[in-house]
Amino acid sequence: MSEKSYDAIIIGAGSVGLAIAYYLTLDTLDVLVLDSEASPGQGQNKAAIGGVRATHSDGAKITLCLQSIEFYATFKEKTGIDLGWVPGGYCFPVYREAEENILKGILPIQKSYGLTIDWVGPERIKELIPGVNESGLRGGTFSPGDGQVSPLKYAAALWKESKDRGCTFHFGEPVTGLVMKAGAIKGVKTQKGIYHSNIVVNAAGSYAREIGAMAGIEIPVVPDSHEAGISAPMERFFDPLVVDIRPGPEGKTKNFYFGQNDRGQVIFCYTPLVPILGTNRENTSEFMTIISRRMIDLIPRLKNMLIRRVWRGLYPMTPDGIIILDHVKEAKGFYLAVGMCGQGFMLGPGVGRNTAHFILHGTPVIKQEIWSSISFYRDFYAGRKEALK
Ligand SMILES: Cc1cc2nc3c(=O)[nH]c(=O)nc-3n(C[C@H](O)[C@H](O)[C@H](O)COP(=O)(O)OP(=O)(O)OC[C@H]3O[C@@H](n4cnc5c(N)ncnc54)[C@H](O)[C@@H]3O)c2cc1C
Repeated sequence: MSEKSYDAIIIGAGSVGLAIAYYLTLDTLDVLVLDSEASPGQGQNKAAIGGVRATHSDGAKITLCLQSIEFYATFKEKTGIDLGWVPGGYCFPVYREAEENILKGILPIQKSYGLTIDWVGPERIKELIPGVNESGLRGGTFSPGDGQVSPLKYAAALWKESKDRGCTFHFGEPVTGLVMKAGAIKGVKTQKGIYHSNIVVNAAGSYAREIGAMAGIEIPVVPDSHEAGISAPMERFFDPLVVDIRPGPEGKTKNFYFGQNDRGQVIFCYTPLVPILGTNRENTSEFMTIISRRMIDLIPRLKNMLIRRVWRGLYPMTPDGIIILDHVKEAKGFYLAVGMCGQGFMLGPGVGRNTAHFILHGTPVIKQEIWSSISFYRDFYAGRKEALK
């Protein structure tokens, strides 16, 4: 049985855990990362389609994603490693008044955070998405500061950078218990050993609740599943990540989104109208039929696209759709970087930077009032109660 001590232990080598390891090892901490899977990023990180935007309507997501974009856009310059960054922005084409009102309604918030996003007319949308269906096209929003990254390249790069700085990774080794003493965390247990540390970070994604239960706390993170797919490479014909927020005519989808990655492959997914809760990752038979109809309706020339593979992954959801970054008062030294919902990949580097800063200095990089809005101790149902009034 192995028994070693570390400055910090991270549970999960995913979109978030890898970024925390990256930043903690920049500060020369001796870090252990444990993951149940065989290699980095094999949880939900690799399920992401790699969309990275700061153009949200929530202040915490905007601020953290701005930090992530800076990280992604400058990573190659700093390290020489290519993450597949495509700085093509995000474009939301609009066909109905309802969606126009929604998108125009959040522009003032987005602009108040200094984001470059605006409403553009149909001609500009046609330039941004050549071949887009012109019938009824009213215009849309475009945010040139956003982009796309390869989640597979990201995981490999952060693992390598952290490992080169002395980080220890144990793959294929799930955490089975936490070591606690007098209200403080003292380490983690696996089937192979006990690892000691006064700092343990829960970055277990869709399994965050199970890790919380080991410390006797209830973390409200529930996985729901989303399917995605990728085409064979094609000549690049559009740069932005495209989001259509109309509900699908088939009555099963909320919105769908897709982009053309650095290799020319179109990578796509949709949001089911009714969330499919649980951890089942088997593909459904309806996904390809529904998504191809929606994509061909939006860009008819995609009818000849060759699909390479499809998959189904999990969003680690919180009741209010906002992430949790905090330390646990009932278990000193236990930190939470969980509940990333459908944006954990774009949030990853910003979350990693702030979690590491919080662990090392007791304060985040972002403003305290924004940090408080993502606290573990907030009222997760306040929005719902407000809506029911
Ligand atoms: C189809 C689809 C498309 C998506 N597209 C995007 C997108 O375009 N942009 C975006 O930002 N997000 C996207 N997401 C969401 C994104 O994938 C997640 O939010 C993100 O990966 C969550 O990061 P995480 O680090 O919390 O979890 P993960 O990346 O899943 O990492 C958690 C890790 O913890 C490990 N683990 C769990 N339990 C244990 C244990 N007991 N012991 C040790 N290790 C453990 C897991 O093996 C896993 O590797 C998408 C998701 C899906 C499903």
